[in-house]
Amino acid sequence: MAAREVIGTNARQVALDDRAIDELRARVRGRLIRRGDEGYDERRKVWNGIINRNPALIVECTGTADVIAAVNFARDRILPISVRGGGHNVAGTAISEGGMVIDLSRMNSVRVDPLRKTARVGGGATLGQVDHETQAFGLAVPAGVMSRTGIAGLSLHGGLGLLTRHYGLTCDNLIAADVVAADGRVLVVDKQDHPDLLWALRGGGGNFGVVTSFQFRVHNVGPEVWMAIVMYPVEKASALLKFFREFMAQAPDELMALAVFWNTPQEEPIPEGARNVPTLILFACYSGPFDQGERAIQPLREIDTPLVDLSGPMPYLVAQQLFDPDYPDGRRYYWKSIYLRGLEDTVVQALAEHAARRPSPISSIDIWALGGAMNRVAPSATAFARRDAPFLLGIESNWDDPQQDEVNIAWAREVFRDMEHRFETGGAYLNFPGFAEEGEALLKMSFDGNYTRLQEIKAKYDPSNLFRSNLNIRPAST
Ligand SMILES: Cc1cc2nc3c(=O)[nH]c(=O)nc-3n(C[C@H](O)[C@H](O)[C@H](O)COP(=O)(O)OP(=O)(O)OC[C@H]3O[C@@H](n4cnc5c(N)ncnc54)[C@H](O)[C@@H]3O)c2cc1C
Repeated sequence: MAAREVIGTNARQVALDDRAIDELRARVRGRLIRRGDEGYDERRKVWNGIINRNPALIVECTGTADVIAAVNFARDRILPISVRGGGHNVAGTAISEGGMVIDLSRMNSVRVDPLRKTARVGGGATLGQVDHETQAFGLAVPAGVMSRTGIAGLSLHGGLGLLTRHYGLTCDNLIAADVVAADGRVLVVDKQDHPDLLWALRGGGGNFGVVTSFQFRVHNVGPEVWMAIVMYPVEKASALLKFFREFMAQAPDELMALAVFWNTPQEEPIPEGARNVPTLILFACYSGPFDQGERAIQPLREIDTPLVDLSGPMPYLVAQQLFDPDYPDGRRYYWKSIYLRGLEDTVVQALAEHAARRPSPISSIDIWALGGAMNRVAPSATAFARRDAPFLLGIESNWDDPQQDEVNIAWAREVFRDMEHRFETGGAYLNFPGFAEEGEALLKMSFDGNYTRLQEIKAKYDPSNLFRSNLNIRPAST
């Protein structure tokens, strides 16, 4: 008799026997991994070490045919599905407890068309893989700042990085996609075919199907860009951020910048006396004409006397990996975010106080200066609605000791709540969602006027909410 395993959520129990698994195995080319199989523990891990979920099955898809087989199998057995791109979402939604993980990490090819200025990118590619291929042509997809992050999760909820003010969000540069929908059909999506789905994919998250490949617009970038990396004494935060808000209000689109309450690094090239001390770091990237970059970043280097200044020109590929060592796999993370309508003195004061209370020296408060190209797209033109805020606050709790989970999570939540209550803010950035514990309220505040349309599109393409291990948009009732 075939061995049976009963799996699933509280709501539904699903029986999977060996015969069913063998049937699926015969239909896919990629590896199928179950509890107890070699590699299971490795493949159920994600970047955030606090996430510990046990899926029933992991299907390492090698192509669209595998994805179709996996979706059909899960749907017919009412098995919860999660989709794994780069496995870097802080909420760990890539892994479904008790369900099936459609793991796309092997679908990571990148093909650049330098004539049409586009790139075709597999649904499991990382930013590093995209940058590697596009920079071979002096091109780039505007994306995030850590090379191991997946392009899929990042672009489906927006995508902020060094080129956002210059060329827009990652999702603004998404021009087409192949999607395996809940009914197992492959939809070739662009502005002619399924334009409503293209609209939803530009910011609406992984709610509408499995994106097996994306097509992005690419832009001339590099090979070198000018970077400002200036570490100032944190005691000067008030004056520094006053300068920062005024400077960024006038800055050209080519300049992207963020100010970070953090501690200085503990190693070379930081001089011994300046290591591991609280600081306000100004980071900026100038991606316009190279010979104008030094002048563009210079004012950020001269606001006061810095503790350390590591500014200079560097290859764009290097700039895109600067933060990699700070975010190792398996550390514990809890990140929230909230848009700010301004950076008035009272806001700065509050942030400085919160930063001084960080329970972990590797935690940070990041102030992203927005605007530019991102701001010139109408809020209803794509699913990504929150485009007019001048700043985004990223509240990053980062720590190693499991005993410290509670205190570190509590700190980030407290900063979030305080900013929300004391200052008029406008929604959250869904790529830094904490554990999305606010549920639908978080989505409503972030999608704003686009939420109802997203629910209607969800009802059209995934009426039974098969794809729900994500920041879930419930289908409109039909
Ligand atoms: C160290 C670090 C730095 C970061 N820096 C930035 C940054 O600079 N800018 C920024 O905007 N964000 C940044 N982020 C946040 C990042 O954008 C999100 O964590 C994003 O979800 C990561 O994508 P992923 O594919 O790795 O996610 P995963 O965890 O694999 O997936 C998250 C969700 O995306 C959906 N999904 C993933 N792949 C697919 C697919 N192919 N088809 C359909 N749905 C899919 C699923 O719903 C899944 O649950 C950073 C994250 C980390 C960890």
